[in-house]
Amino acid sequence: METITKKLQRIQQNIPDYVSLVAVSKTKPNEAIIEAYEAGQRIFGENKVQELTQKYNDLPKDIEWHFIGHLQTNKVKYIAPFVSLVHTVDSIKLLKTIDKEAAKNKRIVSCLLQFFIADEESKFGLNMKEADTLLQSEEYRKLQHVRITGVMGMATFTSDEQKITREFQTLKRNFDELKKRYFSDNDSFKEISMGMSNDYLLAIAQGSTMIRIGSTIFGEREYH
Ligand SMILES: *Cc1c(COP(=O)(O)O)cnc(C)c1O
Repeated sequence: METITKKLQRIQQNIPDYVSLVAVSKTKPNEAIIEAYEAGQRIFGENKVQELTQKYNDLPKDIEWHFIGHLQTNKVKYIAPFVSLVHTVDSIKLLKTIDKEAAKNKRIVSCLLQFFIADEESKFGLNMKEADTLLQSEEYRKLQHVRITGVMGMATFTSDEQKITREFQTLKRNFDELKKRYFSDNDSFKEISMGMSNDYLLAIAQGSTMIRIGSTIFGEREYH
């Protein structure tokens, strides 16, 4: 079987330099993460607060941890001390909570706005109208401890590549619109987090700057 190191190298060879690779380590043991770390990987993604916090405590402190799951406001406090990027902001309420907890830790936490671009796949994510409302709100403008650095989305789970491509185009268009309307003089608004094991090449072709890959690096996940 191909090692984690080899799999990481193969992906890195297939993607442009400007695309960051988030190694999605959810459900995988620390040993697997260490192997990837020793191969040079520094960005890891997790989707459960408790699992992420445990791994943060156990593993090297120069790992950049990304949160990629649905985030409940009452759990933000556990990850606010260390999380590097929250990919899944889908409400002003969540953003305000992240801001409050980041302030307690004297940090500024980077966040992506999650968009709903798929069919019924995920219940989570904003549409453009909701994103406009959020970004125009007085509440948003007051926040000092969060920084919105881009957008995130998940395509429908399907083998229809044209459909996936259309969904990624929608996310890219949303990013371009938001950049024009709200972030034209803000260089930190630059990330488009799209693309997973099965669709990352399609995502990069549509402008992805950040891909989130789990099973292609670590093997299929087993849920118990
Ligand atoms: C699990 C997960 C991934 C990685 O999925 P793979 O198909 O294993 O690459 C990417 N993004 C999110 C939001 C996930 O939950």
